Amino acid sequence: MSRFAYVGGRYLRHRAATVSIDDRGFQFGDGAYEVMAVHRGFPVDQVLHLQRLYRSLAELQIAEPVDRRALPVILDRVLSLNRVCEGLLYLQVTRGAARRDHVFPKAATPMLLVTARRVPPVPPVVIRDGVAVISIPDQRWARCDIKSLNLLPNVLGKQQARAAGAFEAWQVDTEGMVTEGASTNAWIVTEDGALMTRPADHAILNGVTRQVILRQATEFGLRLVERPFSLGQAKSATEAFLTSTTSLVLPVTRIDEVPIGDGRPGPVAQGLRARLLLLLNEEIGRQSP
Ligand code: PMP
Repeated sequence: MSRFAYVGGRYLRHRAATVSIDDRGFQFGDGAYEVMAVHRGFPVDQVLHLQRLYRSLAELQIAEPVDRRALPVILDRVLSLNRVCEGLLYLQVTRGAARRDHVFPKAATPMLLVTARRVPPVPPVVIRDGVAVISIPDQRWARCDIKSLNLLPNVLGKQQARAAGAFEAWQVDTEGMVTEGASTNAWIVTEDGALMTRPADHAILNGVTRQVILRQATEFGLRLVERPFSLGQAKSATEAFLTSTTSLVLPVTRIDEVPIGDGRPGPVAQGLRARLLLLLNEEIGRQSP
């Protein structure tokens, strides 16, 4: 089956979907993006993802590429053209194409790209056994709260993790505190039962999954502490887990080969994962006719 993309105002087959070699996303990584999960044909947490996209664009001083009411229509069309029920939507906005110059171009039209694809569910064994992470120094810039296209340190970190047989790389700042994964947020449960994650400062992306979990955690009877934790604290935690749109909640059972807790997924990560799945189905249920 052909795949379709929305590129600069048109719906095109992937092989015909191209951008200019002068596009500033290509030349400078000058743009922002979002990844949404698709469940039963609907984008999950669309409002939160679009809010974050508009925030990223405002921080980068990139104009919004289409009317705010038009964007969900474009997303729906890309989903239906690609017949995606379970999968992902990818949105990218760049500052547009212009003669190469670092300074913002006077007249460039922001470029919107939307693609969608089917994604198989996370294999049950991953949820049953949890995943391993490695730690690496955080080498990124000081505005990781912006979901920009500049992902080189994240790409290198993820590759390093995979080469080491791990799922994710947890980045550690110069103070020895964990910031986040290459494409996920990081969480621990401490010995005294507190659920700890870094506050949404400029050092991390405020994950949509993170935001949803924060709201759920108190209902779950957990004591929430938004505070940075060290790599040492993570290794001696009772539980550790990671969150993202694509992984939801995944238990972390090893960090740098050190087993976390008893080395098995813990009740908090498993409970929050179940809770998120429930919420997701409720949200989609409300949207379905
Ligand atoms: N941190 C980084 C660096 C990411 O790329 C992602 C994935 N978007 C996340 C955290 C998790 O964010 P979300 O829950 O919105 O997918």
